[in-house]
Amino acid sequence: MACTELRLAGTEPESIVDGRGIRYTIFVQGCPHDCPGCQNPQTHDFSGGSLVPIDKLIAEIQANPMLRGVTFSGGEPFCQAAGLSDLAERIKAETKLDITIYSGWTYEQLSQKSDETVQHLLRLADYLVDGPYIEAQRDLTLYFRGSRNQRVIDLNATRREGHVILDDLDE
Ligand code: SF4
Repeated sequence: MACTELRLAGTEPESIVDGRGIRYTIFVQGCPHDCPGCQNPQTHDFSGGSLVPIDKLIAEIQANPMLRGVTFSGGEPFCQAAGLSDLAERIKAETKLDITIYSGWTYEQLSQKSDETVQHLLRLADYLVDGPYIEAQRDLTLYFRGSRNQRVIDLNATRREGHVILDDLDE
């Protein structure tokens, strides 16, 4: 059965720091990673935030012609893989926007998860910013991520080539 709501910490309708271009960023509520130095500790509680209808998110996304993409951030998006898959399917069907997902798990860890909803959400994404925030590797000069261990992965190229391809952010 399709999900109609997501539990969110909030949204940023015009972000320029969560991937390429102007993006509608969705901060999901709930995160199990507990990275020391996390900038968004208020997103950790799985019972916090508020329930937001997917229809409302789609309407706001469709109303802005300036958007290049939609970003799922957190919190941990893959803890709401079923609901975000439903939203991602609608974004793919109803817009031309790309989808970037942030996760505290690495691409390899996500790829090995047996949960089919996780695999489905991963297949729907165009870019993945992966891995936990590691304070000792904090670097303010990086595009779209906080610590040097995190990668911006081009998932379409990765699927095509059969191994991890990073997004060339200098293009
Ligand atoms: S994965 Fe992100 S939201 Fe979760 S604890 Fe780490 S930095 Fe914070």
